Amino acid sequence: MEPIGPLEQALHAARALVLADLVAGEVAEADVVSLVEDSVAERRWWVEQWPDGASYVAGLIAQDVQDALLDRYGRWPLCPVCGSGDPHALDVEPELGPDPHWVCHKAGVKVAAVGALGSATGGLTSS
Ligand SMILES: [Zn+2]
Repeated sequence: MEPIGPLEQALHAARALVLADLVAGEVAEADVVSLVEDSVAERRWWVEQWPDGASYVAGLIAQDVQDALLDRYGRWPLCPVCGSGDPHALDVEPELGPDPHWVCHKAGVKVAAVGALGSATGGLTSS
């Protein structure tokens, strides 16, 4: 058995964060989860080439899944902040950096950390 290295830990953590946000948006269906797995596989290769980017993978995987969902399902995650106007998706900031957050550019606010969308939208707060 190979020990789990820091890169694999970062990938596991990133996968868990993005899945948590998908669950919060109620889009964590089997084929959506497979989109996450595809992204994790691609980013595993990426981070093996560039281990210093390990803390960036959560933001990158979130963006990969967002792009993949846009083709197949539509915008995700929808902005929970703006009550009126056209529905729009949140963006990940920084696009390439540690500690990624979902932001609404329309309202100019940070909505939640990647992985914490459920608490921001109130979807999974209690019972
Ligand atoms: Zn918004």
